[in-house]
Amino acid sequence: MSAEHSEDDLATRKMQFLYALRSKGVTDKRVLQAMEEIDRGPFVRGLFSERAYEDMPLPIACGQTISQPSVVGLMTQALNISPRDKVLEIGTGSGYQAAILAKLARRVYTIDRHRRLVHEARAIFEELDLHTITALTADGSHGLPDQAPFDRIIITAAAEDPPGPLLAQLKEGGIMVLPVGQSDAVQSLIRVHKTASGLEYDEMRDVRFVPLLEGLGKE
Ligand code: SAH
Repeated sequence: MSAEHSEDDLATRKMQFLYALRSKGVTDKRVLQAMEEIDRGPFVRGLFSERAYEDMPLPIACGQTISQPSVVGLMTQALNISPRDKVLEIGTGSGYQAAILAKLARRVYTIDRHRRLVHEARAIFEELDLHTITALTADGSHGLPDQAPFDRIIITAAAEDPPGPLLAQLKEGGIMVLPVGQSDAVQSLIRVHKTASGLEYDEMRDVRFVPLLEGLGKE
């Protein structure tokens, strides 16, 4: 195939990618624009890079997965981020979700328990000039007390319940989006709204995420 043809092909795949997002309910213009600006390609390595523009979760290093783009879009949309927001993400993984958050928010903190994933994600953020993201290796279930409170929190690994420290680190008026349920079963994507009178929960859809685990990973 000539270089020209493969470029056309890439453009078509990227258009289909955006079309798939819209058809699956990602309708917020700012979210769609952020997802158009952040190319998923660099976040998917090796064997699976060919499939970066398909609406599928894909394997990444350390036995983890990069989420399905439409789920990334729906979670981002549910966060309803404003440009002044400080956002915390638990589960950096490939860094793809954090990069999209960085297009919408003032400041993004992202945490993963795998040092290797954090290093690889940092290198991509550098490359893409995404200087408002801070990526850290830690057990994210304790949140990031030093930088709390947060306007928005997103957890991209499944816990049985929303972790208490993270609920505590959410600002009043803040929103948290996360999958809850057993790791080997279908989980529910939920949105938690912290109001003056307490926490309000709404359920969005069924999802499947890798589990939120305790402590640091081996690599
Ligand atoms: N948001 C990612 C996908 C995340 S996959 C992306 O856009 O690619 C879930 C990630 O959560 C994995 O990388 C896993 O290592 C991480 N994780 C699981 N438990 C964790 C914990 N307690 N603290 C921090 N990260 C955790």
